[in-house]
Amino acid sequence: MSVKLVNDETFTLEDLRSWDRPGIWLAVLGHPIKHSLSPHMHNAALEELAKSDASYEQWQYTRFDIPVENLEEALGLLHEKRFRGVNLTIPHKVEALKYVADMDPDAAAIGAINTLFWKDSGYYGYNTDGYGVETAIARNLNVSLLDKPVVLLGAGGAGRAAAVQCLSRDCQALWIGNRSSARLDALVQDIRKLYPKAEIYPFLFESDPQLPESALIINATSTGLKAEDRLPMDMSGFAPDSVFFDMIYNPPETIMMRALKAQGVAACNGLDMLVYQGARALEIWTGRDQVPEKAMRSAALGGKS
Ligand code: NDP
Repeated sequence: MSVKLVNDETFTLEDLRSWDRPGIWLAVLGHPIKHSLSPHMHNAALEELAKSDASYEQWQYTRFDIPVENLEEALGLLHEKRFRGVNLTIPHKVEALKYVADMDPDAAAIGAINTLFWKDSGYYGYNTDGYGVETAIARNLNVSLLDKPVVLLGAGGAGRAAAVQCLSRDCQALWIGNRSSARLDALVQDIRKLYPKAEIYPFLFESDPQLPESALIINATSTGLKAEDRLPMDMSGFAPDSVFFDMIYNPPETIMMRALKAQGVAACNGLDMLVYQGARALEIWTGRDQVPEKAMRSAALGGKS
């Protein structure tokens, strides 16, 4: 069975109920999920691994469209059918906390999981988004989370992962901005409990905040996904030695990237975050120190691996 066969298939709960396909299976669950690049990325990596270890010919990665009300049943079935690994995306990352046997302490701190690993007692949860964002920033923008104060925009699931990653690395100071106060307040309350000595400065976009001129700026909002999106706040105060990481990768250049680049700020999109969070998940499932990241990136870009 060729791994390529399943790249464009999307299965349902109904398919899962009668699942009896041979091999070692990995899957991503989401709703919607049809456009997920994860099957392409992971199957490209598995194909590459199989070149030097034939046992990987048995492995395949596919996608399931699972509405949130079916998540508990789906995870129970996946475990029963021994799916070795599962990725979770919108809207499951928080809901799934209820259904895992245990989880990594970083994932518990973030309050969201995107990677599950099969164990006898049930799935063990991880969050690899924080690793993904840190590694993408280091390799593309050549800065660590410690080099500059961080200005994080967004307090949703991805913002939470980035905030915990920055604080766990002991960043200089963390400004967190959001459009509205509910998620911002909840996040700040959680991270202040975990990191009581950290410098954490919350702000609302509309409040005209005084931010550091030279900063590592991270966009974890969905602003920029749509062509008609506007900047969430005035960004003209950032100096050219700031650096900007946008978690969005489609479109490859967002409104924030364009605005900051015009000010001389180095900027990069979120494609490598997708690649590195996926690579870390595959390391967890395979037990390997390294997986073929180049093949994953090339597949995510739509090229040949
Ligand atoms: P959530 O839905 O959990 O959070 C969305 C965030 O965006 C909230 O902070 C929300 O603010 C804010 N927001 C939404 N619309 C607007 C707007 N019009 N103006 C200003 N702020 C807005 O999503 P996630 O945290 O999961 O994802 C956030 C972004 O990160 C998405 O673009 C996603 O594609 C990207 N992402 C990329 C990954 C990668 O691998 N590259 C991985 C995960 C996410 P409010 O609280 O006020 O609603």
